[in-house]
Amino acid sequence: MMENNGLKTRLKTPIETMVIQIRKNHALEHASIHVLETKYQKKCLSGYSIYNGFFLMGNLTIQEAKDAADLALARLQHGEKQLAIHPGCGTNLAVTGFCTAVGAMITLSGANSRKERWNRFSTLVSMSSLMVMISKPLGINAQKYITTDAEVSGLRIMGISASELFGKPCFFVETSLTFQEFH
Ligand SMILES: [Zn+2]
Repeated sequence: MMENNGLKTRLKTPIETMVIQIRKNHALEHASIHVLETKYQKKCLSGYSIYNGFFLMGNLTIQEAKDAADLALARLQHGEKQLAIHPGCGTNLAVTGFCTAVGAMITLSGANSRKERWNRFSTLVSMSSLMVMISKPLGINAQKYITTDAEVSGLRIMGISASELFGKPCFFVETSLTFQEFH
């Protein structure tokens, strides 16, 4: 049976396309924050990715944001895929929250009285610490395989605009993804 891969790539649903775009923008957002932190010594930055770009929030100028995004894209496209992973990403927090919740459920399962639950308190603390440790590599892997995609060869920066959010500078870096990247 012959399969038409070319046709298959055209049959992505709008949601799938959006997920592909968000993962690539998320990788570029992290890489831009890495560049701003290392090259421009910027601190307390945050970002948020959507399907057609990403936001950068923090004390920086539009020129710094633009230069950082351009350099980040070039570095990712030249194979520096580790830039797509950021330790401060919300993915890590979500994974840590999930792991500690599962640990608490396991530790407290079958404890029906308040006294029984308190008796397990020190176990719960140990279990939570263990889960926080376990969650770190899991969070990194969740970023690597689920929430980001460092393969950004078809991604282009279309422009950047500046605004303010809660009194702080906020920039939107608009991107677009060329069709052949949809694989
Ligand atoms: Zn992130």
